[in-house]
Amino acid sequence: MRIENVVCPFCGCLCDDISIEVENGRIKSVARACGIGRSLFMKHGEDLSFPSIDGRKVSLEDAIGKAVDILRRSKHALIYGLSSTSIEAHRKALEIAELIGASIDQTSSICHGPTALAIHQTGIPTCTLGEVKNRADVLVFWGSNPLESHQRHYERYSLFPKGMFTPEGRKGRKLVVVDVRQTPSAKMADMFIRVNPGGDYEVLNALRYMLKGGELATSEISGVKVEDLRKLLDVMLSAKYGVVFIGMGLTMTRGKYHNVEAAISLVVELNAHTRWSVVAMRGHYNVKGAASSLLWQTGYPFAINFSLGYPRYNPGEYSAVDLLRRKEVDCVLVIASDPVANFPRDAVKVMLELPLIAIDPKLSLTAVSANIVIPTAQVGIYVEGTAYRMDGVPLRVKKILDSSPYPSDEEILDEILRRLKGA
Ligand code: SF4
Repeated sequence: MRIENVVCPFCGCLCDDISIEVENGRIKSVARACGIGRSLFMKHGEDLSFPSIDGRKVSLEDAIGKAVDILRRSKHALIYGLSSTSIEAHRKALEIAELIGASIDQTSSICHGPTALAIHQTGIPTCTLGEVKNRADVLVFWGSNPLESHQRHYERYSLFPKGMFTPEGRKGRKLVVVDVRQTPSAKMADMFIRVNPGGDYEVLNALRYMLKGGELATSEISGVKVEDLRKLLDVMLSAKYGVVFIGMGLTMTRGKYHNVEAAISLVVELNAHTRWSVVAMRGHYNVKGAASSLLWQTGYPFAINFSLGYPRYNPGEYSAVDLLRRKEVDCVLVIASDPVANFPRDAVKVMLELPLIAIDPKLSLTAVSANIVIPTAQVGIYVEGTAYRMDGVPLRVKKILDSSPYPSDEEILDEILRRLKGA
């Protein structure tokens, strides 16, 4: 049986044109996905987690029971992750956080959290990837390397596709890459601007100053010749419809949300001359959805605390790494994420000293290190669910196989919630 228009649950591109051949309950072939997406589907059965307590295999029932005991006794639990599971699971996780007065944080905290903070200050003129395909004639990737991180972005959404008002595809588009090194994505650019590490804020503000008619009294800003900045500005002003894609080269380097504020402000000011938008290059397939689902339910996108019975928001105080570093939580529930692999070492050290519960279909580093492991059915393979693409467009991720021995994240979290309520 061939299943068409499958959604790939790996990166924020959420490609929804994948074709999968299923034979005897197994995935036989995958068409149209990139190498990463194909590997996700073909190797979905490898490195699967199993229910365990302190490394011992147990029944699913026992693993859930032990997790409930830990959460029930906790005075201040941390719930973290969410970027690789469905919106339906996010809702359950948030209910648990509210019920037990926990802090809840999602992986934006260590990737595009600064983008959220910048948006609080400036707002954001943004667009969908459909608009990019159909209208954009100038693309600026700033601190982003899509050929390696979002492998079909150029092909499917931005550089190559022929759209309604972009009938020439690649020929009708100018590609600019701004980065600290010449990445594979930069090698394909019509213009590559190399910025000194940590110099993005200065370069962005120099562009804003020049856009307002200012003359810089120097020949170079953060490694970029002023004449190259002038050429970049001319390209930006020549756009009929330009889009700046911001990556973690802006959000996770010196300056953080100030970099993003400067990039958004530049785009806002360019709109006095021609049409420009900003899109954040979101990594995990539903990290945008995690921010959106927390936002619509609490008013806040990440780093939320329920200890007073209502949501409070303070990145730096209630963000997972900060809570761990200050040793302010007494247990950690990780859902569909791998903080042991990604957090700073001092935060991981604290996390590993606490009761750690991992809900994950795979034996991630976090699952291997956890006291309690609760395996689940992978969204997009065994269960359907809702996810938000990097531009905020919600898509229904399909179920393609029937044979998972475990319930979904949503069902596991619902069961934990039911037991915590004593129902
Ligand atoms: S670009 Fe991302 S969503 Fe698209 S197939 Fe590759 S991994 Fe999957």
